[in-house]
Amino acid sequence: MQAFNVVIVGSGCAGWTAAIYTARAGLKPLVLTGQSTGGLLTTTSTVENFPGFPEGIDGPTLMENMQKQAERFGAVIRHNSLLEAADLSKRPFRLTVDGESLETQALIVATGAGHRHLGLESEKKLDGHGVTYCATCDGPLPVYRNKPLVVVGGGDSACEEAMYLTRFASQVFLIHRRDQLRASRIMAGRLTSHPKVKPVWNSVVEEILDAAKGAVTGVRVKDVKTGGSQTIPCAGVFVAIGHVPNTQVFKGQLDMNENGYLSVQHPTMRTNIPGVFACGDCVDSIYRQAITASGSGCSAAIDAERFLAS
Ligand code: NAP
Repeated sequence: MQAFNVVIVGSGCAGWTAAIYTARAGLKPLVLTGQSTGGLLTTTSTVENFPGFPEGIDGPTLMENMQKQAERFGAVIRHNSLLEAADLSKRPFRLTVDGESLETQALIVATGAGHRHLGLESEKKLDGHGVTYCATCDGPLPVYRNKPLVVVGGGDSACEEAMYLTRFASQVFLIHRRDQLRASRIMAGRLTSHPKVKPVWNSVVEEILDAAKGAVTGVRVKDVKTGGSQTIPCAGVFVAIGHVPNTQVFKGQLDMNENGYLSVQHPTMRTNIPGVFACGDCVDSIYRQAITASGSGCSAAIDAERFLAS
């Protein structure tokens, strides 16, 4: 069985930063990337607020650079790897990855968060057939060109998705359940002044049409103030209503809150199990920025290094 000093689960900003630090400390970490390498930032366009890039940098490039930096110091990377089970009851911890067992003295959990779904049956049926969670990935597809598109949500992600889609769509409807955006003022301002964007306030999506046709033709939207419904024709629905932490595999072993975010002993990244550390979006329901994820990845790596040395 392969044995490691430290295994890092996840390959977003937190995971790669933890990998850079632990690799540079000579620990030869193994990075389990998850099923897609690079985390959520690979689905974003320009990152304008990561310090050190005055002109901004696109998300995938930032992640590739972090990976190269980790590799330069000797991190071992296992792409397309799924952590199926973790036995954290004693050290070394035993992990099951793609059916294979491996051991590690320390574990850094940086599993991030996935997209939250609306929870509609029609959303499930039309997922990949006009319902999507990533404008950067799907927006440029011919099926969406010069067509009206819908974005659901009122945070920075929704605004970013909507702005990006204005490049392709004839019109972008932003459907938000309140009459005030949660997004930062700069994002909200850019969006609401864009001529192609039409906000639909105080509204929730009741149904995505038309599951029977196997393609998106519109959304039925309910005004939560008046109770009235309207149908907005569109060729695609981009859902951007936040995230759910990827922590299911640790349930019953690592302490987490009712929403699944892992608990750590601030200001350290120690979990309730000595030798297991957690960082990034699977811990943080408040800030969720690339830079805060990187910062906590650095802290987790230093915690792991000190734990192994003691
Ligand atoms: P978020 O800030 O949690 O916003 C989620 C939005 O979806 C909210 O407007 C929320 O409505 C709405 N929502 C949640 N559940 C819903 C449901 N079931 N039905 C309808 N609407 C629902 O998530 P986010 O936009 O993904 O942003 C996450 C974090 O990343 C934030 O800290 C954000 O600042 C950051 N971020 C930054 C950038 C950037 O700076 N470039 C880009 C993207 C994200 P309510 O407002 O009513 O709660």
